[in-house]
Amino acid sequence: MAGPATESVLRIGVFGGTFNPPHMGHLRLAEMVCERFGLDRVLWIPNSRSPFKTGEELADAADRLAMVRAATAGNAAFSVSEIETRQGGTSYTVETLRRLQQAYPGAAFRLMAGSDQLSGFSRWREPEEIVRRAPLIVFPRAGYEQAAVPEGFGKYVEFADTPLIELSGTDIRERIRTGRSVRDMAPPAVLEIIAERGLYR
Ligand code: ATP
Repeated sequence: MAGPATESVLRIGVFGGTFNPPHMGHLRLAEMVCERFGLDRVLWIPNSRSPFKTGEELADAADRLAMVRAATAGNAAFSVSEIETRQGGTSYTVETLRRLQQAYPGAAFRLMAGSDQLSGFSRWREPEEIVRRAPLIVFPRAGYEQAAVPEGFGKYVEFADTPLIELSGTDIRERIRTGRSVRDMAPPAVLEIIAERGLYR
């Protein structure tokens, strides 16, 4: 017998970030969240420029897209979207979600983010609309384990019981710049692109 209609809904996790570069933290957390929350797909969306990260060393969108494609190639549930990089300028999550919901009518979206994003979330553009369109799945991040859910958003935020992974793009860039090893911090294919293109030197 056919199950309830909701069972056939496509469940899509939206994972946005600078991915400058993508690292093992992103990959492992996305894999765990995908499995534990029964997502059919995780859409990795490199942004062209975050409204909250200005003036820092950001690799070109083409380089970050290439790295995210390389990082995600091994998982059939992962795909990479150019929706923000193609548009250029500042990326606003609410606009991305509106466009995604037109592209995937009837899909159920969840927005995936680290707990470092929580404190600033109410300053994102139209946060109420964001969580209505895509309730949050938040994974704990080292240093932000106790981050509070902004008032009024509690019923739209679910925490993932995932381990703390002490990796950040900032640290990886700093290590490359100062000639230290970044082995095992990102997939080999990503490290190859960084080396070939001379990124973060
Ligand atoms: P940077 O150090 O350059 O700011 P980042 O490692 O924080 O980079 P982003 O691309 O900005 O990486 O992150 C994308 C998303 O992944 C964000 O929601 C961020 O909170 C989350 N994230 C990244 N690294 C971790 C981690 N080690 N643990 C938990 N969440 C993480």
